[in-house]
Amino acid sequence: MDRKTIELVVPSYNEESCVGLFYDAVKKLFDEQLKAYDFRIIYVDDGSSDSTLEKVKKIAADAPEGQVHYISFSRNLGKEAAIYAGLEHSAGDFVAVMDADLQHPPALLIDMLHAIEEEGYDSCGARREDRKGEGAIKRIFSVAYYHIVNRMTVVELTPGSTDFRLMSRRMVDEVLKLTERERFTKGIFAWVGFKTKWIPYHNVERAAGKSKWSIRGLLHYAASGLLSFARAPLRFAIYLGAVGLLAAFIDLILLIAGGCSAGAFPEAIQVVIFLLLLFGGLTVMLLGLVGEYLARILAEAKQRPLYIIRESNYGKSDRKAG
Ligand code: UDP
Ligand code: MG
Repeated sequence: MDRKTIELVVPSYNEESCVGLFYDAVKKLFDEQLKAYDFRIIYVDDGSSDSTLEKVKKIAADAPEGQVHYISFSRNLGKEAAIYAGLEHSAGDFVAVMDADLQHPPALLIDMLHAIEEEGYDSCGARREDRKGEGAIKRIFSVAYYHIVNRMTVVELTPGSTDFRLMSRRMVDEVLKLTERERFTKGIFAWVGFKTKWIPYHNVERAAGKSKWSIRGLLHYAASGLLSFARAPLRFAIYLGAVGLLAAFIDLILLIAGGCSAGAFPEAIQVVIFLLLLFGGLTVMLLGLVGEYLARILAEAKQRPLYIIRESNYGKSDRKAG
């Protein structure tokens, strides 16, 4: 029987203290519990300023030929770009996306494989059951956020879902067809469909180093998720405009009727001021919204490359075609 290969895509940004630990943990898992499979790791160095790349090169040199690959970006382009680059270079029968900091327990791969090989799923993701070690505010925002995204967009996000997931080759190939620049990977995975199983696990603290997320980064990520998949804001704008027009029409009738009776004049001016403010505000708000979409159209129209590799250990021949 042919041995199947599981490939792990690992976005790594300033993870010098984690990449080695990650390799050791994965190797142990495959040596002991997943003996029937081969594994490959693709470290995507997302423009780290520490010694991540040197560490990864050493891991690649020490590992059996072809087991560890790396791609190093020309600068920090973000985790979403790193995931895309890794997936595009993958060739394995199964591909998993995993954080370098061991917050995504490699042992879950066993159940994930089972779901895909035996239970007929094309994808199996890890879902955090608790958010231990995370502030209450972050937790509340996260719950509210998933609620809003699920109501306003065509994609259904599972609360607590992480980026850790194992996919079948055919699902990865579909994900790669979505080449938009502003990538919200979680939404893209949900958008391509296929059956996904969610495995719950308990939150794990990162093995070493510190989190790369800032409040600003998280807000940007959240907005990106909404705007990439939601048409609802645009539709909402249309409804709002229609309601506004209707209100203005009714107001006009009332004004004409009121103007016929004496003494109603000052009140009418107040109403006009109110309406001016209302529609002024509305216009500005909706312009902002339209601008946001325009900005996205511009980003897509530019057709910039999704990522730029400075160096890698992929030879021309073993780079996956396409
Ligand atoms: N990461 C990346 N590029 C970035 C930020 C993060 O490739 O610009 C990687 C990081 O190295 C890690 C994963 O994305 O492997 C998750 O980042 P982190 O652990 O900092 O996020 P958290 O787990 O705190 O949400
Ligand atoms: Mg982490």
